[in-house]
Amino acid sequence: MVKARKAPGKGAKAPSAAEKSPGSKSLAVTPKKRRGRKPAPLPGKEEPRESEEEPLLELGAQRQRWLSFLKQRSLSAEEAAKLLLDSFEYKGLVKHTGGCHCGAVRFEVWASTDLHVFDCNCSICVKKQNRHFIVPAARFKLLKGSDNLTTYTFNTHKAKHTFCKTCGVQSFYRPRSNPDGYGVAPHCLDDDGTVLSINVEQINGKEWEKAMKEHKTIRGMSKS
Ligand SMILES: [Zn+2]
Repeated sequence: MVKARKAPGKGAKAPSAAEKSPGSKSLAVTPKKRRGRKPAPLPGKEEPRESEEEPLLELGAQRQRWLSFLKQRSLSAEEAAKLLLDSFEYKGLVKHTGGCHCGAVRFEVWASTDLHVFDCNCSICVKKQNRHFIVPAARFKLLKGSDNLTTYTFNTHKAKHTFCKTCGVQSFYRPRSNPDGYGVAPHCLDDDGTVLSINVEQINGKEWEKAMKEHKTIRGMSKS
């Protein structure tokens, strides 16, 4: 016998046609304000908030393994979850860390152990010897120093040349070729042995439009 579905509680409204549609995905839907649908909370009674009711992990037999993982690596549960997600998602890559000279700006970036670095001869790259490798934005995380960064732009203003206000070092920036990603200075990575090799490619930024048109892979480097 087919089990009857629990009837909606008193006052609950049936889902609208849009909510019921099999094609609609909750992730893709921008939450809209439901005007007049929610009853006002009773005086003196707090409305329960869903975000505060986060369920704990029910790991069963894996619980002990999880706890020793946290302990061994001195991680909080949140940090461990992020590390595991990153390791899964960025298979074959390693987490490099780096920053500016004074230490105000720190970041981590997931990239290969073998870096493909661009050496550009455009007006600004020459002046600051801006060698960089390009990664998608999702693989770069600024750990600290957002308030200690300042940004220089010129010409098309697409490239965002960020540098530390204190020591002046540009450890990363957003390149004009890949404004949706990050250009990271390999010489600003910590000397932790995460880099095994560096392959440097000269890029003719003096003739930027031509160089971009001819280059087969640079634009894709910020796409995950
Ligand atoms: Zn600095």
